[in-house]
Amino acid sequence: MQLTDNIQTLKNVGGQRAALLAKMDIHTIGDLVEYFPRDYLDRSRIYKIDQLQDGQMATIAAVLAGPPQTLNKGRINITKMTFGDGAGYVDLTWFNQPYMGRNFQKGTEYFISGRVVRKMGRLTIENPEWESVSDAALSAGRIVPIYSLTAGVSQKVLRGLMSQALDGLTEGIDDFLPPNILEAHGLCCRDFAVKNIHFPENSQAYYTARRRLVFEELFLMQGALMWAKGYFRQARGCVFEHLDAAEILAALPYQLTPDQQKVVGEISVDLSSGYAANRLIQGDVGSGKTAVAMIMCFLAVKNGTQAALMAPTETLATQHHISFAEIFGPLGVRCELLVGSLKAKDKTDVRRRLKNGEIDIIIGTHALIQSSVEFANLGLVITDEQHRFGVRQRGRLNEKGNHPHVLVMTATPIPRSLAMVLYGDMDISTINQLPPGRQKIDTYAVASSYHQRIFRFMFGEIEKGRQAYIICPLVEESEAEGFEDINSVTKFAEQLRNGVFADISLEILHGRMKPEEKNRIMASFAAGDTKILVSTTVIEVGINVPNATVILIENAERFGLSQLHQLRGRVGRSDKKSYCILVTDADNAVTKKRMEAMADTNDGFVLSELDLELRGPGEFFGTMQHGVPQMRLANLYKDMVALEEAKGAVLKVFEGDPQLLKTEHRGLKDRIAQILGRFGGGIGL
Ligand code: ADP
Ligand code: MG
Repeated sequence: MQLTDNIQTLKNVGGQRAALLAKMDIHTIGDLVEYFPRDYLDRSRIYKIDQLQDGQMATIAAVLAGPPQTLNKGRINITKMTFGDGAGYVDLTWFNQPYMGRNFQKGTEYFISGRVVRKMGRLTIENPEWESVSDAALSAGRIVPIYSLTAGVSQKVLRGLMSQALDGLTEGIDDFLPPNILEAHGLCCRDFAVKNIHFPENSQAYYTARRRLVFEELFLMQGALMWAKGYFRQARGCVFEHLDAAEILAALPYQLTPDQQKVVGEISVDLSSGYAANRLIQGDVGSGKTAVAMIMCFLAVKNGTQAALMAPTETLATQHHISFAEIFGPLGVRCELLVGSLKAKDKTDVRRRLKNGEIDIIIGTHALIQSSVEFANLGLVITDEQHRFGVRQRGRLNEKGNHPHVLVMTATPIPRSLAMVLYGDMDISTINQLPPGRQKIDTYAVASSYHQRIFRFMFGEIEKGRQAYIICPLVEESEAEGFEDINSVTKFAEQLRNGVFADISLEILHGRMKPEEKNRIMASFAAGDTKILVSTTVIEVGINVPNATVILIENAERFGLSQLHQLRGRVGRSDKKSYCILVTDADNAVTKKRMEAMADTNDGFVLSELDLELRGPGEFFGTMQHGVPQMRLANLYKDMVALEEAKGAVLKVFEGDPQLLKTEHRGLKDRIAQILGRFGGGIGL
């Protein structure tokens, strides 16, 4: 049997089962053996019943010691069977499975696993897993793999197939990592690793196998990113010869900070290099990324090309359009907005002028890069916040033919060691400083009993001429079934309108509103006509109203730290003292830790490190909506050391053989091609 053989080569796999396995993306023997367990049960030790402890997970080997008994308690039916192993007796119980007794034969020995509890003086295992000893070679007496399943395929079946496949392979599993890397990093060979990740001979073998496979996974991912980076590097971009930005600098109402200047310098080098820029600009909230974007758009236009700025929401795009128009209008640079809510006629008109080169800078949502939108001469694409392109989209963009320079701006501070994973194919520039005169945003976490005091405080700020945000997690109560304590925006806003803030102009903003409505409300808030904006997290990204000095966040426990930090970044955007008030009645350790961290620091990087630690990478990345590569075994946070190691190894390989042409790198190149293929292909392999 070979890795490339169809899965139906296995005994017990016919068309029907093959179809189920296909749902798990398993088509060949090779796919099967690369379907790694998600967890394990240590059943390597078989306990004697007299050794069992209350609360312990354990496996015993025992025989049936009497007929099944059934008991009916109200609507619950309980089946109880007593098993013995010579050292003692244990009761097994099942709920609402009255047929269970029929599964067991007298005199047959069974492995029985589960959590042991002492009930009324008797040892009991509720809903145990069980299997006859003769059948159980793969599920007891060893470390047993647990797989993610699909309906119709059980653990038992999958374990059986896995073992059949691994035993049936005629040749060992090839290694695509070069021997010198295995040696340098003390890694086992692939054959051993794959076999032992499924059926570890002992815990040492498991760790050895896992270490190797985690390394391999991280190595391949970074290899793929590095390859893509090399490819982007080679992409010819338009050369911008005119890099003098004096005109736009004079039009901006402030001096650039040294960090902004540094980043402008870094990008300018890219723009004039002859290769397409592919750069991430990382800067904490309020650090002034928009100004950098403006300067770059100016340079693009000055060099005879068009620039596109994409924002994740219409609200944000609209806001950018307003501030761009203000600066660029007097310079005679033509800025337009292209968003979904425009009238069809206007859209057509904008598209036509874009194609004819009658628009210099186009600002919109990411619909901008769709195929219906054509440019006369696109030289620069900037994406603001969140909507990071995956490697795949960036590849496509480059293949549009004109190889525009690509900049991505993000305010989500990512722990540095992870930035290289997420953005390994890009160059990175960082804005660390905030513009001068910014004060720390004072942050307080309080219980909801403080509401009246908070409102009085907000009142005071508004009397001073300032504005305030109130953030609620959910839009309508219906969404919050079972969470009656969660304040919905609309209800909360109505209460305020009819109560404390009756005389103050207050508006509601949430994601389900029509874009025109949202734009109207944002414009009114930006103009200072609306004093209080009660909103969901739609205002989370990018909104810039420097006159707002208070943000009140309801049910703060429902947000991750990075998100709270983003929200808080809506205030403190000028030299006026600003405040963030986190309201929570949650009383648990993690929430407390988060709230304390918010109060302690305004540094987004510190908070993101902590966020990652508190929530783990799954949730952390989940809320970032980035194209984070799916990891099978590696844990981007816990395996940070392996990540660094793998990166070092990748660099070494590429240094010695940038095109991966050497024979010992052939397997590696194939693997990388496979990964990039999943990204949509077409990046030069
Ligand atoms: P972000 O990096 O979060 O996108 P913005 O670009 O929206 O930040 O800038 C935040 C605020 O700081 C804006 O009001 C902007 O006008 C202001 N700003 C940007 N750069 C400077 C600077 N060099 N000096 C003073 N204010 C600045
Ligand atoms: Mg911004």
